[in-house]
Amino acid sequence: MNKDKIWLSSPHMGGSEQEYIQEAFDTNYIAPVGANIDAFELDLENYLGDGHVTALNSGTAAIHLGLILLGVKAGDEVLCQSMTFSASANPILYQGATPIFIDSELDTWNLCPRALEDAIVDRISKGATPKAIIAIELYGVPYKIEEIRIIADKYVIPILEDSAEALGSSYKGKRCGTFGEVSTLSFNGSKIITTSGGGAIITATKTLKERAVFLATQAKENAAHYQHSELGYNYRMSNVLAGIGRGQMEVVDERVGARRKMHEFYVDLFKEINGVSVYTVPNEDYYANYWLTAILIDSAQTAGITNETIRLKLLEENIESRPLWKPMHLQPIYRNYPYYGNNIAETLFNKGLCLPSGSNLSNEDRVRIKFVFLNLFRVQKNI
Ligand SMILES: *Cc1c(COP(=O)(O)O)cnc(C)c1O
Repeated sequence: MNKDKIWLSSPHMGGSEQEYIQEAFDTNYIAPVGANIDAFELDLENYLGDGHVTALNSGTAAIHLGLILLGVKAGDEVLCQSMTFSASANPILYQGATPIFIDSELDTWNLCPRALEDAIVDRISKGATPKAIIAIELYGVPYKIEEIRIIADKYVIPILEDSAEALGSSYKGKRCGTFGEVSTLSFNGSKIITTSGGGAIITATKTLKERAVFLATQAKENAAHYQHSELGYNYRMSNVLAGIGRGQMEVVDERVGARRKMHEFYVDLFKEINGVSVYTVPNEDYYANYWLTAILIDSAQTAGITNETIRLKLLEENIESRPLWKPMHLQPIYRNYPYYGNNIAETLFNKGLCLPSGSNLSNEDRVRIKFVFLNLFRVQKNI
């Protein structure tokens, strides 16, 4: 194989990241404190338009801290969308709490309001109201923001909005990352913007932000000898990496635009191919960054071609693609926890595939991708 690899989603620098990193070196703030962190947080706050941002060293840390801020303790139950990356659910176990997995619905592939309410009613009848709802915006598509909010408020359960994949997405003009009692972002290498590794937690008040910073910096109280009354964590973002984040925030809109262009490219491509549909928002209230473009393959209409056939064909051409997130309730580590739903997530997983979606893909890359599909579906298309 001599062609360059086409990645699913790879880092895409803007250009000024190294200048901000240089500032950290020049001022010798090679530490989890400094001007880049403050400025990166401010950039994010301005971009989101609501909330107080605390920069952390991963999205996973942000979710863990979010659960702590929401008061989740050992023995509590936490509702979580089953179809997601494991990092959404693992912090529930870090807290010694119990995950209760909820199915997806077909419009947004996110939390199914009916399964969510069924689960809440059933858990309450079994003796305990769940402590939090972890709602995901899968591949950048907002969940049913209003329906889920109504249920959360009805049973007085706070939402932890995991917007790791949804920076730049919005619902009715309001940005994802502002819909939860706490919301979280990730700046992992594969995400919309990256700091190589990093994350953030968004809280409604400055007081909660101060609390997040306190817990993320070992819960050191104000004393020369480092007094501790509470369990702390080492979760703060490095000032060096926040420099990358500042550079990335200068180009975030371009990055979202380029991902959405990739989505359009696939919508065009599959218009002419029977049995393949592109995961798309249900109506114009929803605005997705399309972090990853995903497709569903109905093999009854594709002469037996499946998601796996496509994945392997792409791989032969050195093009990366990936199955959808395997639902958590089907994962060996989580299989014995309660699950509520009708196997929608499982069906999506069995038929779906994520395609190369990076903001740095070239025309030549698109031609190579298109070529694989046109070849594969040649019989159907009579070419
Ligand atoms: C990437 C991701 C995370 C974790 O973020 P890290 O920064 O890698 O720790 C959490 N949830 C979802 C849905 C993700 O895609």
